[in-house]
Amino acid sequence: MALNHGRGDARYSRDVELNPIFSREPVTVPRYAMPEGPMEPDTAYQLVHDELMLDGNARLNLATFVTTWADPNALRLMAECADKNMIDKDEYPQTAELELRCVHMLARLWHAEDPRHVIGCSTTGSSEAAMLAGLALKRRWQQRRRAEGKPADRPNLVMGANVQICWEKFAEYFEVEPRYVPLEGDRYHLTAETALPHCDENTIGVVAVLGSTFDGSYEPVADIARALDELQERTGLDVPVHVDGASGAMIAPFLDPELEWDFRVRRVASINTSGHKYGLVMPGVGWALWRDAEALPDDLVFHVNYLGGDMPTFALNFSRPGAQVVAQYYTFLRLGMEGYRRVQQTCRDVATGLAARIADLGPFELLTDGSQAPVFAFRVKDGVGEYSVFDVSAALRERGWLVPAYTFPKDREDLAVLRIVVRNGFGHDLADLLLEDLRRVLDRLERQQGPQRSAEDAGGFAHGAETRNPQRAGRH
Ligand SMILES: *Cc1c(COP(=O)(O)O)cnc(C)c1O
Repeated sequence: MALNHGRGDARYSRDVELNPIFSREPVTVPRYAMPEGPMEPDTAYQLVHDELMLDGNARLNLATFVTTWADPNALRLMAECADKNMIDKDEYPQTAELELRCVHMLARLWHAEDPRHVIGCSTTGSSEAAMLAGLALKRRWQQRRRAEGKPADRPNLVMGANVQICWEKFAEYFEVEPRYVPLEGDRYHLTAETALPHCDENTIGVVAVLGSTFDGSYEPVADIARALDELQERTGLDVPVHVDGASGAMIAPFLDPELEWDFRVRRVASINTSGHKYGLVMPGVGWALWRDAEALPDDLVFHVNYLGGDMPTFALNFSRPGAQVVAQYYTFLRLGMEGYRRVQQTCRDVATGLAARIADLGPFELLTDGSQAPVFAFRVKDGVGEYSVFDVSAALRERGWLVPAYTFPKDREDLAVLRIVVRNGFGHDLADLLLEDLRRVLDRLERQQGPQRSAEDAGGFAHGAETRNPQRAGRH
C-alpha cells in the first residue's frame, strides 16, 4: 500500500540523489514531491533505471505465477501498441478484432458447445475477471429470486478456503457472503462432498479452482458439478459453477486434454484465466468467458459506439492498455496448440523433476509433485527440529532465489510450506542450480540449534497465498 509508505523512516525527508557520473550536473530531487522544474530526459531515465535495479531478478523469482520472459517480437509489438486504448473500439478496430479472435480461440480451447455463442472479454488479469464472473452469478441469482417472488438480499458464494485473495475481495466489495469450505487433514482444496453442505437457496455459485494457489492442485470440477446435478434433482436448487483457471485453464487443455473441467461440463457457466500467467504474456491481461448469453445477464453489459455500430463491453475500467491483448494474439499465433503444449510440458517436466529430487534430499515431504499446474509445495518433515521452512526461504534468498514460505489457511494453519512455481524460462539448468544451492543451504541449517525464523519473518511474496497480516485471522 503506497499511502503512508516511508513516513516512518529517515528516507522520507531525504532527497533522491543521482550518481554524479551520469548527470550533466549533480542533482538531487525531492523523493515524495514533484520537482519544481523539468530535467534532462537522459538524467531522469538514469535515475529511474538505477533505482529499479534494486528490484529482484525476475528470473530467480519462483514465487510468482506471472510471466517474466517474453520473446523479443512480443515485446516489440507491445512497444508499438503502447498508445492503444482497449476501450477506443472506434479508433483501434483491429485491436478490438484481435481481442474477439482471442475470445473465440479460448472458447474452442475450452470446448464451448457453440463457440459463436460464447461471450467473453479481456481484463487486466484474473482478479478483474473474477469480479465480473462473480457479478454475473450474483445478478443471475437475484433475477431468478425476484422472478420467484423470493428475497434476494443474502447471496452467498461457496469456495474452498484455499481460493486466491481475489475471491475474498469479490465477496467484500460486492457484498456477497463468502462460504469458505475449510481444509481438513491432507485435503488441501475443495471437493464435491465438502462443497455440497454449504449450498442453499441463496448460493449464487460454486467456485472451483484449476490450479490452487497454495499447492498447484486441480479441484475436481466435474465431480463438484455432478454433485450439484444431484442436488438439483433432489431439491430443485440450480447452482452454477465458475472455474477459476487462472493458471490451469492454460495448462490442462494442452497437457490433460481428457480431463473434463471446462464447458464440456454443462454446469460450468463461466471460466477465467490469466493471460499473463501460463498464457505467456507480460503482466496486464486476463480473460473471462461465459458459456452463452444466458450466463451473462444483459443488464451488466454496457454498449459503446463502434464504427457507428454497437459494441458490448463488460469491464471495471474504462481505459485500459491494448498492448497485452495484441501480445496475447501474437503468442497464440506464434505458438499454436503444439507450441503451447511444448512450453507447458517443459514446465511440467522441470517441476516434477525438481519436486522428485527435492523429495530425495530427505528432510522434505511433498504436498504436491508438480504434475497438475507445474507448481509444487513441500514441507519440512516432522522430526526435523533444526530449521523451519522460513529458515530455508531466507537462506535461499541470500543466493537470490525467491522461494516463498507460508502457512495454510484456516484449519491447517499449523502447516507451513515452501512453494515453487515453474514458469517458462525456468529450465532444467536453473533447476539444477537451485538444487545445488538448496543442498548447500541445508548443510548450514542442519547445524542450527533450532528454527530461527517463523511465519512473522516471512516476506510478503507468496503471491496470493501468504498469511501475513491477513484481514481475517488465518484466512487469505
Ligand atoms: C493468480 C491467481 C488469481 C489472480 O489473478 P491475477 O491475474 O493476478 O489478477 C486468481 N486465482 C488464482 C487461482 C490465481 O492463481
